[in-house]
Amino acid sequence: MSEFRQNLATKEWVIIAPGRDNRPHDYKTVEGDRPAPPEHRDDCPFCTGNEEKTANELLRLERDGAWLMRVVENKFSALSPDASVEREQHGLFLKSGSYGHAEVIIESPRHNDTLVSMDIGQVHDLLRLYRQRMAEISMLPNIAIVMLFRNWGPHAGTSLEHPHSQIIASPIIPPHIRDPFQKAALHYDSYGSCVYCDMLREEIRQQERLVFENEHYVVFCPFASRTPYELRIYPKVHNASYFWSPKEESSDLAEALQLTLQGMRKLLGHQSYNLLVRTSPVGDEDVRYLHWYMVIVPRLSTPAGFEMGSGIYINPAAPEQCARELRNTLIEHG
Ligand SMILES: [Zn+2]
Ligand SMILES: [Zn+2]
Repeated sequence: MSEFRQNLATKEWVIIAPGRDNRPHDYKTVEGDRPAPPEHRDDCPFCTGNEEKTANELLRLERDGAWLMRVVENKFSALSPDASVEREQHGLFLKSGSYGHAEVIIESPRHNDTLVSMDIGQVHDLLRLYRQRMAEISMLPNIAIVMLFRNWGPHAGTSLEHPHSQIIASPIIPPHIRDPFQKAALHYDSYGSCVYCDMLREEIRQQERLVFENEHYVVFCPFASRTPYELRIYPKVHNASYFWSPKEESSDLAEALQLTLQGMRKLLGHQSYNLLVRTSPVGDEDVRYLHWYMVIVPRLSTPAGFEMGSGIYINPAAPEQCARELRNTLIEHG
């Protein structure tokens, strides 16, 4: 049975329309078992030996003289720290200089490393690097929002196999980010509580979409998931800002993230996915109505005309079933 469901925070509607027989292996065929990439590629700009092919290096983590992770400027960025932030009228229309910051985090010297196969310490180091860089970038002049994302696999919009994440910081908060913030503020004004804390409490109460939980984090498939196997990782304790959240919780986040991706890999094979960190705008790190979280979206379906036209996603898999399968996979593999 199909049904409309509403996202409590954004008020967006989705249609959950589970196919009668869809199973994980139906999704597995999209790109399933790509051949494993080699540990090193001479033509990869992020591999060791090719350091001069990347733009200006901003930071590196090293051990015994060899780099473990590098942060470099994004060579192909449309944004520039030297551009202006001034708004300008062009007749009736508004424009502005392309001020902003964009960088790439090269997560490993090994071309074939993944968040699934990495040592947990490396995942932890990476999350610490995310926090450090996002905090530093938030202090640059005129930055309003710092966005972190990780595209993995050909269907996720990356041309590079080498494991990497990106940070983009902009002086403009786009409407699709601002809009949920305003809705969350309205929820706070109405009920006196953070809508994300409320949503998390309800997901924990209903249980059926939970995937994994440790002391500080909960992983679940949201009630109004737009796409199959879509996941959220929420901190249990309210905090609006990822990069000002308590450092000691970082190892729990590394565990939640890696286990989730391992479960996804076992269930769906080498699927492309996008990972995002949603965090408060710069200056709103202490607000009571925003709550930072991580989003993982396996790229199993492509939005088409209906989604573009209506803004309503049709999700062919019930999030309850996706969560159950992921949970069982994690239990089976200990
Ligand atoms: Zn490489
Ligand atoms: Zn909250």
